[in-house]
This record gives sequence, structure tokens and C-alpha cells, in this order.
Amino acid sequence: MKLIIKADRLIDSNSLHPLINSALVIENGKIVEIISQDKLKDISIETFDIIDAGNSTIMPGFIEMHSHMHVNAESDAYKQVTTESNEFLLMRAVKAVRSTLSSGVTTMRDLGSKNEIAFPIKEAVNNGVIPGPRLLVTGTPITSTGGHCNSFAYEADTKDEVIKAVRRQFKKGADYIKIMSTGGGFTPGTNMRKAQYSADILKAAVEDAERLGLRVAAHCHGTAGVINCVEAGIHNLIHCSWLSENPSEMFDYHPEITDQIVAKGLFLDPTLGVDRLNQIRDPQRYKLRSELKDPVKRFEILKDMWVRGVKFVTGMDSGMTNARFDDFAVMPQVMVEDLGISNMEAIICSTKTSADCLDILQETGTLEPGKSADVIVVKGNPLEDIKLLSNVEDIILKGKIIKRDGKLLI
Ligand SMILES: [Zn+2]
Repeated sequence: MKLIIKADRLIDSNSLHPLINSALVIENGKIVEIISQDKLKDISIETFDIIDAGNSTIMPGFIEMHSHMHVNAESDAYKQVTTESNEFLLMRAVKAVRSTLSSGVTTMRDLGSKNEIAFPIKEAVNNGVIPGPRLLVTGTPITSTGGHCNSFAYEADTKDEVIKAVRRQFKKGADYIKIMSTGGGFTPGTNMRKAQYSADILKAAVEDAERLGLRVAAHCHGTAGVINCVEAGIHNLIHCSWLSENPSEMFDYHPEITDQIVAKGLFLDPTLGVDRLNQIRDPQRYKLRSELKDPVKRFEILKDMWVRGVKFVTGMDSGMTNARFDDFAVMPQVMVEDLGISNMEAIICSTKTSADCLDILQETGTLEPGKSADVIVVKGNPLEDIKLLSNVEDIILKGKIIKRDGKLLI
């Protein structure tokens, strides 16, 4: 399989500037070279399939860092996941991974779906039985007894139990470990503001995961949980909402903890798309959530974290209410509009930084010779209008054409 993609612009996610009039040469699923279109006359292009995209932009495929493939993205999601059979959840997941790939996501990390769902789905994708992006899965998350997401999590309370849970997930084939360090909105009765685990227990999870070559992502809303995660060296903080332990005040932000996040090189997945999608699809729900997390103040905190040098990655929390599996493009849009970063910075977070967080940057996340040909072509120039990232015309995954000239081939 030999393919050349030509377009007016190419974003490789390394440089802060696009390459103009370039061509991407792909062979056997890998990027071979990126050359000027003038140089195409020097190679025998008649042996190649050619996508000539004109006024479009070639860039790395998106990386969705946070999905729950078995959840339906509707307002009854909690009831749905706690009542449906594994067989039915599995069918939902088949649809979810196809939908995610169809939006231009070429790598997806599932951050919590039952082992019985996530592992067979990954195997089916890898064996070409069903279409889906490159998958990294955690399987069931680890939580305290009765804690956040306990209905589909592995419950572990003590240090020994948590270590055992990490090893169990490793044995099942997890690519990453997910642990719930505070309560969460999805699980009635849990306390978002309080820590579910001590820093000591989280540290034991990190050390054992690292021994096994894995990294750990932790759900944390309350500041108490954030601080424990940072002390423990949790590789990827999820949400990081800085909610005060005292319910009479909203936030309890600690800039000095942010400096530790930077010093330790930890990544942040602030799940920026969900609120915007609630705002669009369910204003009443958005209003209720805003009362818990004032969006203006929330973005002030996040801006401070960005300025101090925190590495942001792009997790949708897809599957949760109103966060559908093909919604990825809303995230870089929110990063530009509400976080105030540049279009190029938002694209780099959506590709290179996220691959780095997954520890797969040697394989994907940028367009470079030798890397997997995980490529999308976006109509127009997303560096001028970030919303254009929803106009994905072509999708190539590991060199295979998934979508061509706007037409899905899966
Ligand atoms: Zn989640």
C-alpha cells in the first residue's frame, strides 16, 4: 500500500508553523517522508495512490484521551450502565469505537469500562473484526468500596488491595491504570470534595504500575484528592477541579501544587468538552453544573495552570451525558475560545502532547518519517478557524484509508 497525500498546508505537530505545499509519502502503514510537492517529479508517483486535497490541511489524527465506550452519552447514562447486560454494553462499545474513528480520532484511550467490554473490543479492533482507532484501555477502574463508579469498577480500599487491583488489571491486559481518587458526579452518594485514597496508597499504585511498565491516571475533583495525586506522582490528573473540601466555598486552588505538577512532569486532562456540549444540548444541566463549578473561575484557574507550564491533554469523557463519541473537535475549540491558547497549541495538545502522555510518541502523535501513518485531512485552514477541525475529509489509520473525500469507507 503506497499513498501520497498533497495539500496546501501540513501541520506536523512539532513545528509551530505549517509546511506549505507539502506532500506526505506513506508506505506499508508508515510515514516515509514529507517532501515539497515540487519534489514529487523525482519519484515514480504512478505507483502510488494519490489524495490531492488542495486547500486543506494535513495533520496527525486526533487522540481522544478519555472515553467510556460502554456508556450511551445520554442523560440516563447511570441507569443504562447499571442495568444493561454485558452483551448489550459490548454492542454499544462496537458502535462507539467506530463513531470515534469516523470523527478523525486515530488513537483513543478508554478510561473505564468493564474488563468484559474493553478488552474484547480492543482485541476485535486489533484483529480487524470491527473498525476502531488504536486503542489503549484501562479496563475496569479502581475505586474504594461504594466509591465513584463502583457499579463497574474494582473495589479496593487498603494499600495491599489497591496493589492487587493494579496487578489484576495488568494481568488482564490493561495499557494504563485508572483510579478514582475522589467521588464524582456520575455516582450518587459519593463525595467529590473528599479524597477516597491517601497519598500513600496512591503512591503504592504508581510504584507498582511503573514496575510493570504502566502509567496511572486518576480522577480527582476535590483539592484534597488533587494534592494526594500530585504527592503520589500520578502520571495523568483527570478533571483536576480544585473543589474545596468546605462545601460553602467553591474552589480551593493552590498554585504551589501546580508548580509541583510541572516539576514532576505530570499531565492534565481537564475534560474541557463536556460543559460546552451540555451548554449546547442541555442548558438546564449546564446551569446546574455551573453552580458547582463556576466556568469563569474554572478557566481562570486553568489559564494559570497553562501559563505555569502544565501539559494539557485532550479527554472528552465521551459516553458521559451529552459527550458523544464523534464530538472530539469541540475540545480544541474550547481550548482556543475559553482557555485562550493559540490554534496551533490546541492542535499540538490534541495530538503530540496526548501521545506523550500515553507514552506512544515514538509511534504516533506527530507526522515524521518512521511513525505510523495516522493522518487526517481537514478542509480549509484550522489555524485561522479552529472550528474547521470538525470538517475531517480524509482519515488514514496505520496507512489504511478510513475516509476519503468525505466518504466513510468503514
Ligand atoms: Zn470519565
